[in-house]
Amino acid sequence: MNNTDKIYNLAVSGVQKLIPYTPGKPIEELERELGLTRIIKLASNENPLGPGKKALAAIQATLPHLALYPDGNGFNLKRALADKYAVDISQITLGNGSNEILELVARAFLTPELEVVFSQHAFAVYPLVTQAVGAMAVVAPALNYGHDLDAMQQRITDKTRLVFIANPNNPTGTLLDHADLESFIKALPDTCICVLDEAYCEFVGDQSADNSIAWLKKYPNLLITRTFSKAYGLAGLRIGYGLSSPQLADILNRVRQPFNNNMLALAAAEAALTDIEHLQNTLAVNAQGMQFITESFKNLGLEWIPSAGNFVLVDLKQPAMPIYEALLRKGVIVRPVDVYELPNHLRITIGTQAENQLFLQALAEVIQVS
Ligand SMILES: *Cc1c(COP(=O)(O)O)cnc(C)c1O
Repeated sequence: MNNTDKIYNLAVSGVQKLIPYTPGKPIEELERELGLTRIIKLASNENPLGPGKKALAAIQATLPHLALYPDGNGFNLKRALADKYAVDISQITLGNGSNEILELVARAFLTPELEVVFSQHAFAVYPLVTQAVGAMAVVAPALNYGHDLDAMQQRITDKTRLVFIANPNNPTGTLLDHADLESFIKALPDTCICVLDEAYCEFVGDQSADNSIAWLKKYPNLLITRTFSKAYGLAGLRIGYGLSSPQLADILNRVRQPFNNNMLALAAAEAALTDIEHLQNTLAVNAQGMQFITESFKNLGLEWIPSAGNFVLVDLKQPAMPIYEALLRKGVIVRPVDVYELPNHLRITIGTQAENQLFLQALAEVIQVS
């Protein structure tokens, strides 16, 4: 090891071994690499319709004010969220994406002596935030690709400070039964905080996912995280939020940066909450696209995992990486999930009808020659 490399030894031990999150391949990167002009990206569960008109108008209206710091308390957005969910403003924590909330809760509650329980095939950020603070990750095996709540419960000890649950889960799209989930939360020791990651809750058909908000009254150790990145089409602005007891929110708000949400994001998110039409269009396009893509998988003889989100995992029954790469050469970016211990699957974000058709055409060509 040369002198400059020695600096790695100075990093805290969790960070020394940390392998960063791999995002979906950006369109510009594939453009640079292959010189393709028509590229579609179905890799990061973004909204294929883009941001809504109301959010865009709010951004326009905010531009002249950018010399000022944003409202560090995000009052207007918090008030809008508090109205929407009938919670108190003191129960809300705003984050630079809901990803930041996941990081804040890890920073505020974990030490190297403590443990974190999450499921196999669960969202990749959970092991990352756990390792970054040097806490111990305890991974429960999945059941039918989803969370096995019994297996998770068995792994909870008096050292378990956090448990992460993604519902629906990314990348598998699995959804837990509501009553089972509440029983699990209810049985947690009060020394353990449950982070219920609902990044895709808007896509869940019967909206029963909203019931989880009612649990906040009963469980002071529950943190629900949600985001404007997926159904609301604002991933590029980075804004999400946590809902919890006021005490838990107070702790998270102590460790966040004073201006963690920029002014454009705050304004756009507030406007997006009022844009019912855009949300409904988004849900309709997703439902139709999901139907179309899974029907087409069936026609191609492929299996998939039924998904409650805006994405679906297809089982190729062969290593997915070569198929992923062949799709890239045809200008279609999807998501390999080998880092989730799913080397034969690809995750496809539901796109517009035109994008879905292009993807399926490319996939049919690629699997025919493989
Ligand atoms: C996308 C995603 C998030 C975080 O998204 P943000 O853009 O940071 O709000 C959190 N959890 C899951 C399961 C996700 O898929």
